[in-house]
Amino acid sequence: MLSSATILSVLYVLLVYSQGSVHAPNGHPSLRLRRHTFLSEQDAEKNVPKLCKDNGNNLNKMADNGTIFTIDLPAITNYNVYSNKQYSLPHPKVGNVSDSKLNVIIVPHSHVDAGWLRTVEEYYMYHVKGILNNMVVKLTKYKEMKFVWAETVFLSMWWNNLDDDVKHKVRRLIERGQLEIALGGWVMSDEASTHYVSVIDQLMEGHQWVIENLHTKPVNSWAIDPFGHSATMPYLWKQAGMENMVIQRVHQAIKATLAAQTALEFQWRQMWDMEGKTDILCHVMPYIYYGIQHTCGPNNQVCAMYDYGQPKSIFEQSTGRLVTDENIEKQAKYLYDQYRMKAGLFEYGTVLVPLGDDFRFDTSEEWDLHYENYMKIMDYINSKPEWNMNVQFGTLSTYFDLVRNNEMQRVLMNETAEFPVLKGDFFPYSDLDSEYWTGYYSTRPFQKQLSRDLEASLRAGDILSTLAIHQCKRYNLEFESYLETMSQLLEVRRSLGLFLHHDAITGTAKPEVVQDYENKLLHAFNVSQSVIAQATQNLLTMCNNDSPVIISAHNVRRDAHTPPTQFTTIVTKSGTKVIFVNPVAQERSEFIRLRVDSANLDIRNSQDLNIPFQINPVFKSTTKIQTSEFEVVFLIDMSPFSIETYTLYKVEAPVLCYWSSIETYGIENFQIPKNLNFQLKNSLTFKSSYKIENENFEARFEENGMLTGLFDRVRSKSIDIGVEFLSYTSQASGAYLFYPSGEAKPIHESTRPHVRLIKGPFLEQIEVVYKHLSHSLSLFDTPTAQGQGLHVYNELNMLSADLTNQEVIMRVTSEVKNEHGEFYTDENGYQLIQRKTRPNTRVETNYYPVTTMALIEDSALRLTVHTRQSHGVASLKGGWLEFMLDRNVDRDDNRGLGEGVTDNRPTASHFILQIEHRQGTSQYQQKFTYPSLTSHIINDHLQQPVQKLFTTIRNNAFQFSFRPMRHSLPCDHSVVSLKTLVTSNLVNNGSSIILHRKGYSCDFPLRGIQCPTDLETVSFHTLFPDIPMTDIRETTLTHLHVRSSLPLNSSIRLQPMEIKSFVVTL
Ligand SMILES: [Zn+2]
Repeated sequence: MLSSATILSVLYVLLVYSQGSVHAPNGHPSLRLRRHTFLSEQDAEKNVPKLCKDNGNNLNKMADNGTIFTIDLPAITNYNVYSNKQYSLPHPKVGNVSDSKLNVIIVPHSHVDAGWLRTVEEYYMYHVKGILNNMVVKLTKYKEMKFVWAETVFLSMWWNNLDDDVKHKVRRLIERGQLEIALGGWVMSDEASTHYVSVIDQLMEGHQWVIENLHTKPVNSWAIDPFGHSATMPYLWKQAGMENMVIQRVHQAIKATLAAQTALEFQWRQMWDMEGKTDILCHVMPYIYYGIQHTCGPNNQVCAMYDYGQPKSIFEQSTGRLVTDENIEKQAKYLYDQYRMKAGLFEYGTVLVPLGDDFRFDTSEEWDLHYENYMKIMDYINSKPEWNMNVQFGTLSTYFDLVRNNEMQRVLMNETAEFPVLKGDFFPYSDLDSEYWTGYYSTRPFQKQLSRDLEASLRAGDILSTLAIHQCKRYNLEFESYLETMSQLLEVRRSLGLFLHHDAITGTAKPEVVQDYENKLLHAFNVSQSVIAQATQNLLTMCNNDSPVIISAHNVRRDAHTPPTQFTTIVTKSGTKVIFVNPVAQERSEFIRLRVDSANLDIRNSQDLNIPFQINPVFKSTTKIQTSEFEVVFLIDMSPFSIETYTLYKVEAPVLCYWSSIETYGIENFQIPKNLNFQLKNSLTFKSSYKIENENFEARFEENGMLTGLFDRVRSKSIDIGVEFLSYTSQASGAYLFYPSGEAKPIHESTRPHVRLIKGPFLEQIEVVYKHLSHSLSLFDTPTAQGQGLHVYNELNMLSADLTNQEVIMRVTSEVKNEHGEFYTDENGYQLIQRKTRPNTRVETNYYPVTTMALIEDSALRLTVHTRQSHGVASLKGGWLEFMLDRNVDRDDNRGLGEGVTDNRPTASHFILQIEHRQGTSQYQQKFTYPSLTSHIINDHLQQPVQKLFTTIRNNAFQFSFRPMRHSLPCDHSVVSLKTLVTSNLVNNGSSIILHRKGYSCDFPLRGIQCPTDLETVSFHTLFPDIPMTDIRETTLTHLHVRSSLPLNSSIRLQPMEIKSFVVTL
């Protein structure tokens, strides 16, 4: 069924192009494609979404009396480092500690990295298997002993080889409260560079495994090693059913400031939450590391005396002092003093003492030594009534139950003892000596980018395969490749999940381990693309299982040493079908760029109508273009989650082909074959300026081809905006740390680039080619979201001796007056949080992670830079936003890796620069903000690109389209995931749908919007009208707990920023 909008657009195409003219009409044909669904600027300003009418801008409703905002803490923090290179915590003195009743909970644990100095498989083989096997034996033997475990990936590696009686024992240990699964994600994920869609996915994978195999539902989170903590995680953990959480790597000086307010335990609340609905109790471990030497109290030499394990990292020595009848009095007193001093930092009469370190408890002796020595000390301390202390082994549940009880009782007694409330996050992180862990945001960007591609590909594979299963069921047919598809998706999901580990996506592992992750990601990417092809074929043939797979993925990534090259489609006389998949739940019209082997072609849409297209050259070198490879650019119209087929025919005389013009500067002898109709302008000298344009903007460039300004045609306003590439020279940077020797310097001072411009009716592009860097900037001529920004694409290759110890950035400069250094970065693609640049501190202290967008604004303008992968970002001066692209640093930064990072790959990066004019009156520069609706759509399309497939085989069984949704979801709603839940045996366990309603700013006009802005609810029936459902349950985020059963026709209302999960049965 055709949407009325699609019919209209087809009519326009027919009207404009049906005369069969081969000459380009005057003006841009795409202007004539302007569809009724788009709002003019004036209309858009009048068209206020319902949310904005009802609520105004809720940024104004700040009622945060007494709330601690982390963004305010630097101003009251003492950053002076003491002689031991550490920041000081405000402990009570030894003789001055309180003697009130104190509970001490010793929590044995082992921190197991899913790859770092060794691969995940090696760690399993050499340590983790031993830890888990010993855990069963020793916890069964020692009933008082407890253990906490976080990483599900290792449990799943271990589990399948266990006898049933061992599995039974493990479940018994959990039932008895001796073993606690903490959070239970697939890995302990990084919090800076990860995107929330994949964070949820790996958490669900872990939770589904844990509930199926261990029959337990985690309630406490334990993230002791990620290098800084995001404000998004507490929201996700809470939605998944966690009640409490422990974190560790917080800037040590900020810890001291929190400790001075007795606020190392707080209710962590989301920025927009004025009611406390999102509160989760968070405990910040006070000391510098999570190892035993740093957890009993402030004196690490004393704590080290109670470490009975084999050291696993270069920082540790074997230091445990056995407890004997002779020394017990002294040994117990030392520890007693440490516990008392640590208790001085906390409010609720309970001390958490983690007992573990990296890969600890892997030998039988270590379990015995720890158990026996600590039992002696506990018995001794507990037997002294005058010490008023009870020490026991416990889990996180033991600890938090006591803390919450203590708080509740004191509140009942009218003491002002409620947990403090905190909003914000904990970036950047610094442990000691003023060294900042802000390098890893940009370390190994090739793999960061690959993982984002994989996330989009996996999500599309999930959606299509789920729709295919449902469609087959409707026809009473089997989705024949069900088992293969489900096992492929499981493999892909687990490979991506593994990469979210805090030494993987961070880029902080050994080169051979990075290679292992990369191999897994590349393989998973190709597998996910074949899942997309298989499911698409199934949907287009309506479950006709007779034909072998004849649809192929367009994107196949063969190796990591070249940027993803575009597949060249072979155009045939009988027609090559190119198939597009729209993975978002909104209608979408955009120009597609496709490589083809011939310029003699016609392109027809699914109604068999000829579509106009622009034809661009593909450059073989700086002086030559390919004669058998071209790029075509054409507009596709896609309804939500739809599949559309376009057919490319090889013809003698193309009907609607527009050859682009080529201008090259700084290149001699540039020629093109005569049979190609490109208009060529070639000059060895440079022009003083260049421009490219579309309906909305004219972008201006200086002699070297770099952006210098933008003219907004809709507003008739010029805006100063530029792009530069610069480089920091490293002083002591490494994989983790950013430590430059000074300010960034332009990287291309002495060389001249080649500049070329490609212009046609649909796309105008400028390309600047240097030796190690190529940079292009494009404008698409469409009134949709795609035409609202400048599309930047860079390829950088730092595998060169002259770039050693360099850290390359792209800096966007503008006239935006964020004079006090305020800017905003997204956290995990979920929310925008304010940052404040501290102008008198070193560069690296002002770097923050960015996952999907960063913005600066003033009372008139907002500049948003959208990014398709994670980077480090800073706004060092007014109007600036800089993104670190890659780093080549050959020194170790003393955080355990033992080497620098020099295995750079040629790496692509995508950005979209978006300028918006503020029309609202609400205040700007609040502690958090929202993107505009247009900005959300631009970013969604960047993160979820149209998936491309192709086939050269004619098959009449094929439909040309598949359109599962009649209408777009409201603009502010998104489907985070739609996937099929399976057990370990791949049995279908229902379909999982996660919906997200985004918060958005009402201060900016709607531009290029193709979706409804005034709907407040959605229903599954309107979402998928052709899929009959028998049961809908709303659940916690990862489906561990059912919240309610819903009537089949019920409307679902989400509040802005809310994420809700459902399990649907057919
Ligand atoms: Zn770790």
